[in-house]
Amino acid sequence: MSGATASYPSSVPVGVDPSRASIARVYDAALNGKDNYEIDRQVLAQVRTVAPQVNDLAWANRDFLIRSCRFLAMQVGIEQFLDLGSGLPTAENTHQVVQRVSPEARVVYVDNDPVVLAHGRALLEENELTHLVEADIFDPQQVLGNELVHRELDFTRPIALFQVGTLHHYLGDDTAELMRTYVDALPSGSYVSIAHFFDPETEELSELARQMEDKFVHSPMGSGRFRTRAEIEAMFPGLEMVEPGLVLCDDWWPDGPRMQPLNPVRRCIVGGVGRKP
Ligand code: SAM
Repeated sequence: MSGATASYPSSVPVGVDPSRASIARVYDAALNGKDNYEIDRQVLAQVRTVAPQVNDLAWANRDFLIRSCRFLAMQVGIEQFLDLGSGLPTAENTHQVVQRVSPEARVVYVDNDPVVLAHGRALLEENELTHLVEADIFDPQQVLGNELVHRELDFTRPIALFQVGTLHHYLGDDTAELMRTYVDALPSGSYVSIAHFFDPETEELSELARQMEDKFVHSPMGSGRFRTRAEIEAMFPGLEMVEPGLVLCDDWWPDGPRMQPLNPVRRCIVGGVGRKP
């Protein structure tokens, strides 16, 4: 279905209209950021009526992103990163995490939200190894055909590609095909990191996932799908999963022992990293 993706609400940048919510600003609000409007906070307030800990979806996602950046830079030695859906600049952005480990690492961020692009150009492009590209991440040909992506990244050497907290905003049913196009373009030894809203397929948690999805999709943000394990696993086509596989974001190499049980919202987001053989 790629090519038809522009018809989905998630692919249409909302501009800076304060009467419309944007994915990036709602996420920023959930992370206690300052670059959001009342309409964005209202989306979270609506979801909070069914899931009081909704902000934890964002925190679990963000912490997974940071841990997978550290893993790929430190343990694997990856030096090229394609971060699809950068989000608004916040603490510990991808380039800061990976360049702390590897100062020569190149990072290309991609986003299509005008507020992200404005703030990002100022704050994410901190050095000549870090760039922000405007493109639709759900149109792989657009990203892969981008001149700056090709100028900055060497597609003959391993690349880490992130779709962290993004694909659940794509409402089409062809996420596996979408990811296959990206994976096909990556050289052997590359890695793909994905975090995604999750329907755990148990009676109680599926009901929670369904209620959150309903609120997100019918909000002024217009997207947020909770997909099943089989649907999310299919987004790693032909990849070897790094241990421990596709798990709750909080269970992917946590920073330390768990001192409290995970709340139900934290059981509704998974992450994983796969390697292209
Ligand atoms: N990846 C970051 C993280 O995990 O912290 C940010 C995740 S944020 C929830 C999703 C980001 O994807 C937003 O910045 C949004 O603007 C961007 N996004 C959503 N749909 C997009 C599209 N079709 N093309 C480009 N960026 C998109």
